[in-house]
Amino acid sequence: MADQQKLPALVQALRPEVLDFEPYAAGLSIEEIRERYGLECVIKLASNENPLGVPPLVQKRLKASVGFAFRYPKPDTPRLCKAIAHRMGVDPSRVVVGNGSDEIIDILIRVRAVPGRDNVLAFKPCFSMYKLQSKFLGVEFRQVPVEADFTYDLDKLAAAVDEHTALVFVTSPDNPSGYAPKASLLEKFARSLPETCILVVDEAYMDFAVPEEEYSIRNLLGELDNLVILRTFSKVYGLAGLRLGYGMMHPALADYLWRVRLPFSVNLMAEEAGIAAIEDTCFYEATLKAVHTGREWLAAQLSALGCTPKPTQANFILFALPEGCPLSAKDVFEKLLERGIIIRPLGSYGLPDSLRVSIGAERENQAFIDNLKEVLA
Ligand SMILES: *Cc1c(COP(=O)(O)O)cnc(C)c1O
Repeated sequence: MADQQKLPALVQALRPEVLDFEPYAAGLSIEEIRERYGLECVIKLASNENPLGVPPLVQKRLKASVGFAFRYPKPDTPRLCKAIAHRMGVDPSRVVVGNGSDEIIDILIRVRAVPGRDNVLAFKPCFSMYKLQSKFLGVEFRQVPVEADFTYDLDKLAAAVDEHTALVFVTSPDNPSGYAPKASLLEKFARSLPETCILVVDEAYMDFAVPEEEYSIRNLLGELDNLVILRTFSKVYGLAGLRLGYGMMHPALADYLWRVRLPFSVNLMAEEAGIAAIEDTCFYEATLKAVHTGREWLAAQLSALGCTPKPTQANFILFALPEGCPLSAKDVFEKLLERGIIIRPLGSYGLPDSLRVSIGAERENQAFIDNLKEVLA
């Protein structure tokens, strides 16, 4: 942080929420680590990206549409919304797309929460975007700790709701733990909320849950006006770099989000890519297979090394090091980095003793385990 005394008056006059804002901590990039350690081959298992890359049909469609990039997209990207709605079994009027689901999180907070009056509620730890965008707006952000085993006590969360709780964020499956509450529990919680309080269920990883129907409450969208479901193209559809996500909600709420959203935040390439990604069902199925197989294999290997992997419904595993291990989680993270394996330390989530590894392709998972074995030896 810069010394505020030395900042020009212009900068000192910025909003206090901005002056002490701590930006999002992203996973390290392959290029950074390649350069830092002079490595040829670097494997990134830090940001829960798709282990199979970009869907082949998306690559083909992008090549065919790149010549149209000089045109503005349609502001409400109707073809994409229709494709999403069809895939999700909802009416297109319920869908709002954004520059990643991050944008939808941001707009939801801004359309509902009034600074100085309202609060936003989530579990602790949680995906940092809920807190960051609340803070940026100047809205109080409240957190209720998850249980020691990372499960949710939704009664405790309900107890923290008051008349000024504008939104509650629940991530299912959770990041960083991989835990997902059963749909029946979440439904009971959803029905207990005041109808003016928006429940946002962030289902960024829901495709990886088995079976999905036991965990998702998106079939309640027609029944609960205050329910919002978030999904993203960044994980199961392999488009993290193109930035595309969406929310499903009551059509009247969706209408207001469209009114305030920047008109072209979803670009022309992202729209084409999203439509093609939904069509490429082969890629989708292959992704699920790779993640499910890799998840089981990695969990078994981690256990065999004496680590404690947490049960997970997502495309990543949170784990702790073997008991009595002389190395800290941060040491292990750094030793893996030197060897060209990037995983995620969880200090920024308030979990200094845990590590998170994304499910990669088979050879990436193998390389991670081989290197971890050597580091722990
Ligand atoms: C990755 C992730 C997202 C998706 O963010 P995008 O902006 O769509 O890339 C949303 N929520 C959680 C909890 C995530 O982990």
